[in-house]
Amino acid sequence: MNDLGVKPVVELKALTRSFEQGGERIDVLRGVDLAIRPGEIVALLGPSGSGKSTLLQAVGLLEGGFGGEIVIAGHSAEKSNSRARTALRRDHLGFVYQFHHLLPDFDALENVVLPQLVAGTPRAEAEARAQELLVALGLGHRLDHRPSQLSGGEQQRVAVARGLANKPDLVLADEPTGNLDEATSDRVLAEFLSLVRGEGSAALIATHNERLAQKMDRVVRLHEGLLA
Ligand code: ADP
Ligand code: MG
Repeated sequence: MNDLGVKPVVELKALTRSFEQGGERIDVLRGVDLAIRPGEIVALLGPSGSGKSTLLQAVGLLEGGFGGEIVIAGHSAEKSNSRARTALRRDHLGFVYQFHHLLPDFDALENVVLPQLVAGTPRAEAEARAQELLVALGLGHRLDHRPSQLSGGEQQRVAVARGLANKPDLVLADEPTGNLDEATSDRVLAEFLSLVRGEGSAALIATHNERLAQKMDRVVRLHEGLLA
């Protein structure tokens, strides 16, 4: 494949991040370079504490304090003010958090509708999109259930649908099935991957699941602050 001219959905250049811990400075990211092409699904592996969440927070433009450069769909995050960063997040990124981030007072459908309304999608269109995603994930019979009325696997499927609702160019997922038992985790992660592929989104997925990581397009590993 000739990649010349294909603009990456995200580019990290010499990304660094340090924290103070008990009066000591620890360098968690020491110069991470990464480019993800449109539609490419990348597994982010690394032992606990290696900086996976820190890296995803940087790409998600959720926190400051980073050195180096983050470029989302050609836009440099450093050169954007906070309003522009919010727009970059909304227009290009989707997040799959673990299921406790679902809104408890809203049903499954509404949890997937709301981020679309925030992005300016008309309600009828947002509902149709939410229903399509939830049906694709096998939740057609759970649309009006609140999170507390759903199993862990079902809640995580709602979180997946929500993360994809705005058709993001890049989906960021931090151990998206980490709360589930192994069999459920395997199933939900496989469904997540096939849905992301069908949608044509790129994804960066932190996971401990080596086996499922091998089903992604590329595996990168964090080791001593650098990607290998
Ligand atoms: P992973 O997700 O791979 O388990 P993290 O990104 O959560 O790793 O953490 C990497 C390292 O950075 C750990 O040593 C952690 O203690 C440290 N760290 C993360 N966030 C903070 C913070 N807000 N303040 C201080 N140290 C932090
Ligand atoms: Mg983590």
